[in-house]
Amino acid sequence: MNTQAFERTRLRTARELAGLSQAQLAREAGLTPAAISQFESGSARPSPETVGILAKILMVPAGFFHEAMVESHEGFFRSLRRTSVVDRRRARAIAHVAHDLAVRASAAQRFCAGDVPMIPVSGLEAPAAEIEQTAARVRAMWGVSRGPVPNVVELLEAHGVAVIRLPLDSADVDAFSLPFADHPVVVLGTDKNDRARSRFDATHELAHLVMHGEQIWGVKEVETQAHQFAAAFLMPADDIHDQLPTTVDWSTLFELKRFWQVSLAALLMRARTLGRISDGTYLTAVKAASARGWRRVEPVPLGRPEQPTRLLDYLASPESSLARAVLPPQIIESIGTASAA
Ligand SMILES: [Zn+2]
Repeated sequence: MNTQAFERTRLRTARELAGLSQAQLAREAGLTPAAISQFESGSARPSPETVGILAKILMVPAGFFHEAMVESHEGFFRSLRRTSVVDRRRARAIAHVAHDLAVRASAAQRFCAGDVPMIPVSGLEAPAAEIEQTAARVRAMWGVSRGPVPNVVELLEAHGVAVIRLPLDSADVDAFSLPFADHPVVVLGTDKNDRARSRFDATHELAHLVMHGEQIWGVKEVETQAHQFAAAFLMPADDIHDQLPTTVDWSTLFELKRFWQVSLAALLMRARTLGRISDGTYLTAVKAASARGWRRVEPVPLGRPEQPTRLLDYLASPESSLARAVLPPQIIESIGTASAA
């Protein structure tokens, strides 16, 4: 390792992990904000002593700054208004650490090769049929048999996607993903103790990785497309069409929820999309569910959300000592704890 190496983008990542602004870090390090800004932009390099000081303040091993780093875009975040910029950046920085872990786990033969198909959507106005087809193609390419997807998180991990849950000390951040070419990262939100919701969220992020890749459009249409993909991926039309009721038949819907491991809300939406129920019937059902408080907590709980396991297995293995030497220990621990919770 070249001890003089300094990967400038890692300074930003470490600073965002600590939730500090450039000015705050400068103050603590006894430097000017301009100096921090120059280190991050690459127009100046810190001396080894300064690197040591920064590492100490930011609670990362000094070796963290020596590692090469692949950049990714800002991530697809929903509910931008609900989450502060600091929390969002911190979540994104944690996802970068998860990517580092996946790369190292992969090098140690403890993580699957990345294998997420890129099937770019034709545009913001892409027809629903195209998105249904894309979802079907991904299922076929990944060898998913007909019917419900047994475990979405396991499926993603088996195709080289690093899946983590955000540590509990992070604020309320929705699921998001970062489209790294080798090992994309899917971060699931914190407090949603809801298996159906968590499966849908994970599939929604897969949709972005498959259809939207490096492009961030950040518009409503893109979110709708990801939802359409998730519905089609989890409930293929050919398999579910005839099972869906043509009236608001709750006992059948409860049964389908258990079988398909998706929410009642998703089933109703699917029934409307596939023309099994009319818009009017759909609205009646949604109102009835709402009146019973089911929009907050649905009946027929499916148990604990699916848990990522591959990075945890890697962290429990002796091979992870190399990663531990260069990655921030408190972040690694919190990823492990949150994902095993
Ligand atoms: Zn999204």
